[in-house]
Amino acid sequence: MNRINVTKTYLPSQEVYQSYLRKIWDSAWLTNRGALVLELEEKLKESYHLNSLILTTNGTLPIQIALKLFGDQGEVITTPFSYVATTSSILWENCKPVFVDIHPDYLTIDETKIERAITSKTTAILATHVYGNPCNVEVIETIAKKHDLKVIYDAAHCFGVTYKGQSLFNYGDVSTCSFHATKLFHTAEGGAMFCNEEAIYKKLFYSHNFGHDGPLKFHGLGINAKMSELQAAMGLAMLPEMGHIINERKKVATFYTESFKDASNLKSLKLREGTEWNYSYYPIVLENEQTLLKVEQALNEKNIWPRRYFFPSLNKVSFVDCIQEMPISESIASKVLCLPLYVGLTKRELELITNTIKKQI
Ligand SMILES: *Cc1c(COP(=O)(O)O)cnc(C)c1O
Repeated sequence: MNRINVTKTYLPSQEVYQSYLRKIWDSAWLTNRGALVLELEEKLKESYHLNSLILTTNGTLPIQIALKLFGDQGEVITTPFSYVATTSSILWENCKPVFVDIHPDYLTIDETKIERAITSKTTAILATHVYGNPCNVEVIETIAKKHDLKVIYDAAHCFGVTYKGQSLFNYGDVSTCSFHATKLFHTAEGGAMFCNEEAIYKKLFYSHNFGHDGPLKFHGLGINAKMSELQAAMGLAMLPEMGHIINERKKVATFYTESFKDASNLKSLKLREGTEWNYSYYPIVLENEQTLLKVEQALNEKNIWPRRYFFPSLNKVSFVDCIQEMPISESIASKVLCLPLYVGLTKRELELITNTIKKQI
């Protein structure tokens, strides 16, 4: 059997990609917001009706930049159920992560528990729209306004997701995305930050380019988070294929949902109402960790490699100093498995995956 991984990087038309590379060779301009970065920003903005965005070299630096601007080395309320970059960025910026447990079905931060975690030191809320499922953005916005906090969304999984008719990237003071090769839309490595206010855009913009205000002047402290032309070329070649990619992934996800519809001891993700999803991940929540390990082993024996996204619960990571327990996040993290989901999975492969799982649960 061929190896089946949790994901397989989608490679766009090589001809189209090379037509962009040719432009780079012609201009001999490789970075510093060249023509291709500007073109990709414009096309993304138009295609997805974004208020404003800045492309970056990965999806972690924008989180760090937002926290540098708004974290103020204070307490940042965050979710324990995400990729490690969400929590490590808080620590990297000398802020303190204050975890709030998640909703058992939506798997996003439980907004009803946020207010009791706020103290005089709280500066921001950093929440993840995990698997592209929106947080309760309305309630979070109300809480943030009431307590004068900034809201940052780690929207790494949200390319193409709309909530109540508009891009999920348009919510929050800042939201960020990753264009890593394992993500839905990618530029090999890459990312973006999004915001709605001109004043915030300016701060983000200066921050991602060493704080430059012209060649000789500085607006303030900055870092280098710029996307290169080579990365943008990949993005421009990917962009026309996104409709096809999401359609194909929808078929895979629909197959899983159909196959598991009678499996009462397995839960799929519950999407928040009003969401047009992007089929970025297919998590299944099993009865307990023992079952998960059995399922994982049976799949591995058939050369199928799902991933334990996300394990462990981030309050349990060794370098995180957190004594509070997060019972829901810890429980979900111990028994959630993301199934293979990418363009090109065959019906035979999908049947093998679902039959192997059903035999173990
Ligand atoms: C992938 C990911 C990141 C990090 O993005 P990079 O582009 O790899 O730096 C951050 N947060 C979440 C939730 C992710 O899945």
